Amino acid sequence: MERRADLHLHTFHSDGTFAPEEVVRRAKTLGLSAISITDHDTVAGVSAAKAAAGQELEVIPGAELTAAFKDRELHILGYFLRWEDPAFVNFLSEMQRYRLGRIQAMIDRLSEKGVATVTLDEVRSVAGVGTVGRPHLAQVLVSRGVVSSLQQAFDRYLGDKAPCFVKGATLTVPKAVQIIQAAGGAAVLAHPYRIVEDSWIPELVAAGIQGIEAHHSEQSAPVAKRYEQMAKQHRLLVTGGSDCHGFRKSKGPLIGSVTVPYAIVERLKAAAR
Ligand code: AMP
Ligand code: FE
Ligand code: FE
Ligand code: ZN
Repeated sequence: MERRADLHLHTFHSDGTFAPEEVVRRAKTLGLSAISITDHDTVAGVSAAKAAAGQELEVIPGAELTAAFKDRELHILGYFLRWEDPAFVNFLSEMQRYRLGRIQAMIDRLSEKGVATVTLDEVRSVAGVGTVGRPHLAQVLVSRGVVSSLQQAFDRYLGDKAPCFVKGATLTVPKAVQIIQAAGGAAVLAHPYRIVEDSWIPELVAAGIQGIEAHHSEQSAPVAKRYEQMAKQHRLLVTGGSDCHGFRKSKGPLIGSVTVPYAIVERLKAAAR
């Protein structure tokens, strides 16, 4: 059987709903050879995933960083990170602190606009041990009955173009790439379809991205093909993953729904230094 990898997975250490052990259990059931845990601004799930995986499944230490580019917020994936590197861990704690301030700013907007009065503690309690993010705030709005679904919370209030959105990126793309590479990792542009114009790709290549997530649960086969061609043209690695958030955001867990051949893992490893 061909060896496959899902290189984009969240746990409850950010805005996913699964424990790292649960992600690993499901990956094994699906017969995957490798996975990457790519939580937003944290590597807290990596050690538990590695311990649960044993020899049967390779766990690639990863993280998903947010970077500002033009008027947008991009996500940059880091792979094969030295996840215990003290400078990297310190950097991530800083990002986590910043996330709290940003969510508070969005809470303030919701209040100013008369949408809802939410407290940061409520959002933190939904996030549990995880880095706080918009999906947690969205869930508070759902449980209050302010909106009927997470999607509606994003469409009406929290999405990148919605009225209560506050930018969350403190990094530029070159800086995000530099931080990933300083931690020994390879930097990959996540799910470009939602955010990035094709004409921006050369600039992102110049900023140091080493790969592009052509295969993603929100990118159709023709879109993936287009990114594969761009990758070839710019000598970028082609990666892919489901971006599974457990039971958040989707009816069923997406893990294993988007995979790449194991050869991609080897190329990523070679690109990481
Ligand atoms: P944050 O890190 O706080 O900016 O939140 C990012 C998370 O919110 C990611 O997991 C996204 O998938 C999710 N998200 C961003 N925009 C939307 C949207 N329009 N609809 C649903 N989820 C979204
Ligand atoms: Fe997320
Ligand atoms: Fe993302
Ligand atoms: Zn993600």
